[in-house]
Amino acid sequence: MKDWLSDLAKVAKFVVAVGDCATWGGIPAVAPNPSESQGLQFLKREAGGFLGTDYRAQSGLPVINIPGCPAHPDWITQILVAIATGRIDDITLDEFHRPETFFKSFTQTGCTRNIHFAYKASTAEFGQRTGCLFYDLGCRGPMTHSSCNRILWNRVSSKTRAGMPCLGCTEPEFPFFDLEPGTVFKTKTLMGVPKDLPPGVTRKDYALLTMVAKNMTPAWADEDMFIV
Ligand code: SF4
Repeated sequence: MKDWLSDLAKVAKFVVAVGDCATWGGIPAVAPNPSESQGLQFLKREAGGFLGTDYRAQSGLPVINIPGCPAHPDWITQILVAIATGRIDDITLDEFHRPETFFKSFTQTGCTRNIHFAYKASTAEFGQRTGCLFYDLGCRGPMTHSSCNRILWNRVSSKTRAGMPCLGCTEPEFPFFDLEPGTVFKTKTLMGVPKDLPPGVTRKDYALLTMVAKNMTPAWADEDMFIV
């Protein structure tokens, strides 16, 4: 496989890495990484990877990374169509070579539970239609760059809409948990405050906000608002 990659990368006009293993190593690259897995131009957050930092395809572009475990089918097809129709120059890449059109905003953008997040109304059970999955179940939606709640899966749903916490699978560090049973889907805390907070939120601000939000939570925030 490595020989194929070396040969093909030399003559490819574009290289697109699909999924976490191809982009930054994914689950196989978790330390101690016995298989020495790495992505095409990254190993986790570190630039380099199998092809090296300086690699450019014949088009002049680096490897275009479409992460995810799995990657969203619409992200893949839209990038391939942009290449095939000569519109790839309209796409800008972020520092990890992810197309910004899909990875500039957070998974939380468009999540139907945002109001519950704001009022700190938590759900501690999978599959519930109400409550936010951040406070007990370790949802990484506020910290993860993806458009899962803007471009729905099968045009219908997303993990958080179905009551399953975001696992952060489009970020280089995925998986964030050590894959031990009992450690996944549990919010890690430090002195009562979630260990990982949304970017830009300090621990002090978070504690203050929690106090205010909890006191202001309207009764309906805990009710199931869906009509079936
Ligand atoms: S369920 Fe996750 S993505 Fe949705 S509002 Fe809560 S933290 Fe954000």
